Amino acid sequence: MQIPQALPASPAGFRSGFVALIGRPNVGKSTLLNQLVGEKVAITSPVAQTTRHRLRAILTTPQAQLVLLDTPGIHKPHHLLGERLVQSARAAIGDVDVVLLLVDGSQPAGRGDGFIVDLLRQASQPVHLALNKHDLVEPARAAELAASYRDLVAQNQGGTSPSWPLHPVSGLTGAGTHELVQSLAAALPPGPHLYPLDAVSDQPEQLLLAELIREQVLHQTREEVPHSVAVRVERVVDDGPRTAVLATVVVERSSQKAILIGKGGSMLREIGRGARLQMQKVFEGPVYLELFVKVVPHWRRHPTRLAELGYNGD
Ligand code: GDP
Ligand code: MG
Repeated sequence: MQIPQALPASPAGFRSGFVALIGRPNVGKSTLLNQLVGEKVAITSPVAQTTRHRLRAILTTPQAQLVLLDTPGIHKPHHLLGERLVQSARAAIGDVDVVLLLVDGSQPAGRGDGFIVDLLRQASQPVHLALNKHDLVEPARAAELAASYRDLVAQNQGGTSPSWPLHPVSGLTGAGTHELVQSLAAALPPGPHLYPLDAVSDQPEQLLLAELIREQVLHQTREEVPHSVAVRVERVVDDGPRTAVLATVVVERSSQKAILIGKGGSMLREIGRGARLQMQKVFEGPVYLELFVKVVPHWRRHPTRLAELGYNGD
């Protein structure tokens, strides 16, 4: 739906560049991204591994334009999809001007954080560390929690004092995010606008729509289903005042298909209703949504099927 626009003239001293958002699953990367750009560009959920695609979100201030890459959470790979996620996160670190490592700052640093700090040790770019979920931290514990991360970074850098700036933030409330954006912007190289002033994301529309459906599946089904689900939007038809969206929900087993459809179709209706409400915000108008459920056995293990569903690991 986006009409290409000319880029604005950039004032003297303007900075622009790419920031990779890196972090373990569930630390709040997508929530922070939505908070930073002020609208929903990434889906979120309490289930780990929600983000499967690399998404660019664009944040423009009077002094800078930040292109933020949301990456799938880094974790030890368990199957092919998992490996692709890690590949994609590693690739994201390669290309950017600044790395923003996000951790769950309401918990002390743990072993999983060590894995990722180690992964970033070789990064040649500046690394900023955001201690997220600060809204959950009792003021009396804040210093102790921050120290556990400072120590972890120092250990990984051979005991030298860490050069990674620490930022307590809350993606949920927005606390601390203004300061975070200011310091990230200051770390970018001088450069012009890369996107129009009103751009918030470069995500193809069909992908966003597919993600809005997958988000409803994650919210409405129990553990046995979410990781086995992929959504493909087949067609988007601009039908006068109404937009018609046709999509297929792919699962691995017929038992999962039965759960998704529910008694008399009740579950699928709820999923469709929730996704339609979100889509109506995107299109700013009525949406007709038709969902099919299809079984593709073991789709997560097959490279060609992963590619067909848009998981390229690039
Ligand atoms: P991601 O996997 O890193 O992208 O994490 P999500 O953004 O999907 O968030 C995972 C869960 O943490 C969701 O239930 C969010 O509501 C919750 N969450 C994210 N950020 C915050 C925060 O700043 N404070 C609190 N209290 N919860 C958060
Ligand atoms: Mg996410």
